[in-house]
Amino acid sequence: MVVLTIRKRTAGLGLVLILALMILGITSYTVAKHPNMDNWKKEKIVIDRVKTDKKVVALTFDDGPEPKFTPMVLDVLKNHDARATFFIIGKKAESNPQILKRMAAEGHEIGNHSYRHPDFNKLKKDAQLEEINKTTSIIKRLSGQNPVLLRPPGGYLSYDLVEMTKKQNLTIAYWTYQQDSKDWRNGTKPSTIAGHIIKNIQPGQIIILHDGCPNGGATARAVDMIITQLKEDGYTFVTMSELIKMGK
Ligand SMILES: [Zn+2]
Repeated sequence: MVVLTIRKRTAGLGLVLILALMILGITSYTVAKHPNMDNWKKEKIVIDRVKTDKKVVALTFDDGPEPKFTPMVLDVLKNHDARATFFIIGKKAESNPQILKRMAAEGHEIGNHSYRHPDFNKLKKDAQLEEINKTTSIIKRLSGQNPVLLRPPGGYLSYDLVEMTKKQNLTIAYWTYQQDSKDWRNGTKPSTIAGHIIKNIQPGQIIILHDGCPNGGATARAVDMIITQLKEDGYTFVTMSELIKMGK
């Protein structure tokens, strides 16, 4: 009896462990990889990095414009004469049109990150398309740029979304997985964010950062550290579309 009980307990623990690993595995799977991801990457419909030997990378900023932090990021970029790409939320852009104008005037690229940043899993195809098209027209109207990149909220991907973006002549702008420093997490220090990115740097990477989150002040300071160090190492900073054109 005693032996049996122990065996049952051991088996139970094993099961819990397997379940935990499965859950972890499934979670990272849905966040990082759609089953058709590799094919879309080959077809250059989804881009998460660019093949190049040149020391060039793209800094990308999500979820803005935010009246306090986005100008801080823009100031840092201006001081270093560096170009970046901003994946903006349409609704926030309507409230901060002057920031969008400044981005364009200072040579940055503006990409589409939906109108309200909803969970696309909960939206029907038509509502997803409306989120995208509304934001495209806001970018055109406020900045004069015609956006060619879409970063779906949360990195959402589906066959329907890919079909829609093809029709709209948009490329899906992913980011280089090992360069996700989770800078948006409250309390993450500038040195932690910068350290993660500097340690993992490689030519052709697309680096994801967040100007539009409450930790955006730390992100802005991190960007100063990142550019200062990587310039010393010979890196230059271009927009995501420029990086794509430089790819093999
Ligand atoms: Zn976002």
